[in-house]
Amino acid sequence: MNKPLILVVEDDSTVRNLITTTLKSNDYRYISAPSGEAAIGAASSQQPDIVFLDLGLPDIDGVEVIKRIRSWSQMPIIVISARSEDGDKIAALDAGADDYLTKPFSVAELLARLRVTQRRLAALGGTSAESVFRNGKLTIDYGAGCAYFGDAPLKLTPTEYKLLCLLARDVGKVLTHTYLTDKIWGSSWESDMASLRVHMATLRKKVEKDPDVQYIQTHIGIGYRMLKVE
Ligand code: CA
Repeated sequence: MNKPLILVVEDDSTVRNLITTTLKSNDYRYISAPSGEAAIGAASSQQPDIVFLDLGLPDIDGVEVIKRIRSWSQMPIIVISARSEDGDKIAALDAGADDYLTKPFSVAELLARLRVTQRRLAALGGTSAESVFRNGKLTIDYGAGCAYFGDAPLKLTPTEYKLLCLLARDVGKVLTHTYLTDKIWGSSWESDMASLRVHMATLRKKVEKDPDVQYIQTHIGIGYRMLKVE
């Protein structure tokens, strides 16, 4: 397998060096860009496999960089943001970012996010045309419109089933509250957010029958992610 090529977009040279050094010592290939314009240029000319994108850039906003890249490419984008940029982080996920890292982050976390994204890419490449989704003991039979845990059918409401399908389609990826409520109700009012929490809680109770295995992860203030279960 070819080593994946990672584009690192970060104007702070200390953080950039930390990331590129980590990538290098873990056998990834990388290119780096210190600004938004340079990032867009490198993304189109080098076609990286995955992008690490700092949101606070000197020239154009990171969210704008995502929108520009998304106009022609679905390449995975992992956002790097400071805690103070939480609102931007959500805007970034809504604009099409795949995942995020919050500064300060550890090298282990950086590598874990990369692995999650690579697994998601592999899953998408292999199973996108299949009509059955499998993850651990969870199975979704899209044709029949039902889901199973092990051999037992899950008694899901239509909304729970839709939520489960949305999470499964982007397994490994954080989906924002706004994204989910918009897909299900076509709006994202405060009341929809409250409904989402309720439906997600009942869905989790039904899906997470095995107390040791987590299928759905909550990202407080941001959204939810289905974890890839080995
Ligand atoms: Ca920055």
